[in-house]
Amino acid sequence: MIAKARHIEDTKRLLGLLPTIMVAPPEYLFIATNNTRCFSYDLFVKPGDHVSCCQMIGMRHGPFFEQPIHSTCSGVYEGLETHYHRSGKLIPFIKLHNDFKDDLDPMVKERSDGEVSKLTKADVTEILKNCASVGLGGSSFPTYIKMQTDKPIKTILVNGIECEPYITADHRLMIEESGYLIKGIKILQRVFHCHDARICVKAKYHDLRKLYEALLSREEGSGITLSVVGNFYPQGWEVAMIKSATGVKVPHGHLPSEYGIVDFNVSTVAGIYENVKFNKPVIERNISVTGDGVKEPGNFRIRVGTPIKSLIEACEGYKDPSKPKTFILGGPMMGASLPSDDCIVTKTVTSILVFNKEEYREEPCIRCGSCVLSCPERLQPVMIMNAMKAVPIDRERVKALNPLNCIECGLCTYCCTSRIPVLDYVKRAKLVARMK
Ligand code: SF4
Ligand code: SF4
Repeated sequence: MIAKARHIEDTKRLLGLLPTIMVAPPEYLFIATNNTRCFSYDLFVKPGDHVSCCQMIGMRHGPFFEQPIHSTCSGVYEGLETHYHRSGKLIPFIKLHNDFKDDLDPMVKERSDGEVSKLTKADVTEILKNCASVGLGGSSFPTYIKMQTDKPIKTILVNGIECEPYITADHRLMIEESGYLIKGIKILQRVFHCHDARICVKAKYHDLRKLYEALLSREEGSGITLSVVGNFYPQGWEVAMIKSATGVKVPHGHLPSEYGIVDFNVSTVAGIYENVKFNKPVIERNISVTGDGVKEPGNFRIRVGTPIKSLIEACEGYKDPSKPKTFILGGPMMGASLPSDDCIVTKTVTSILVFNKEEYREEPCIRCGSCVLSCPERLQPVMIMNAMKAVPIDRERVKALNPLNCIECGLCTYCCTSRIPVLDYVKRAKLVARMK
């Protein structure tokens, strides 16, 4: 287990040294019609229509919010086509034939620094709503909803922890886009009337620490500081980061804003600057593509809507193409497995992991307790699993084990001596606990 963890850690460290490569947008781009937060949608275009880049071509509808759908190239809308989404589900995507002109929609318009400095919190919230800003660290939570808090904010936390193994997209963004990141933080400080902003990074990322210590030494009096946090997983989980950076423990069922705190991922904050300064939706993102299944792993900047197959080409193709592959979108701990590479990169995909498939056999539970010891929520995953295996399932027993508190960090599965997918049982227990 220790050797395996070291190997993964070395892979991440080496990938973090690779600069981000810009990938040319492909001939066809695909925009998700819905996602895990928005289940329905309306389209404002019909097949054959010409679209401009960044044009609002539809609207997704969530339970308490709406999310505009933007074109990520100029060209022609050709209709809907089904592909895998990062959730692991097959959904309809909007198929755009790229004309490679990138004619920008008139909504994209640069604001002068003077204009930006006059924007109120309500103005910025409206811009982020129209630009469909969401948590780009993978949460996909709409940023404008976070902005709408009426609680006084004393601390802004900027999450640069990126604690899942393998992924280095945010790490590279922090090195290569530090200007956008700091300008984005300044916008948030001004509109929240909050002086105290802390960029959170893990102690072991010496390159980031040195870079930001140097950058922030030139920003004396700005209120932006570096908060160095622990090296453990899941340190990037909102609750763990807030506890480490501020000492505040946000209990279940409460929002950080109730404690005077808001937090955003680094990619989201850099995106906020782009949204506000240029009135431009996020149409590109940084992504890591890695694993032993590709020839040349790397960090890439890609157009949202790019098919995974184009990124495999950017990695010089599959390593050992005859071997079957496992695909994971997102990190290995919390990401979703996909049955094939017929998947599209959406705005919130941080990484694609491609592994040569390993066959392994699940063994019976030996009651070692590793899953219990590893659970950051102090749940008893093995007990939840056993309750779910009972026939018939005792719903009250399942509920009493609090599966709804699970943050799906995946540690129970990772630590299981018998290679049991414990989290799968906990996820199913969550569904049972939610049943009325
Ligand atoms: S996935 Fe859930 S049950 Fe498993 S260790 Fe993480 S929080 Fe605990
Ligand atoms: S880690 Fe696996 S083998 Fe050990 S108690 Fe949990 S489920 Fe059983």
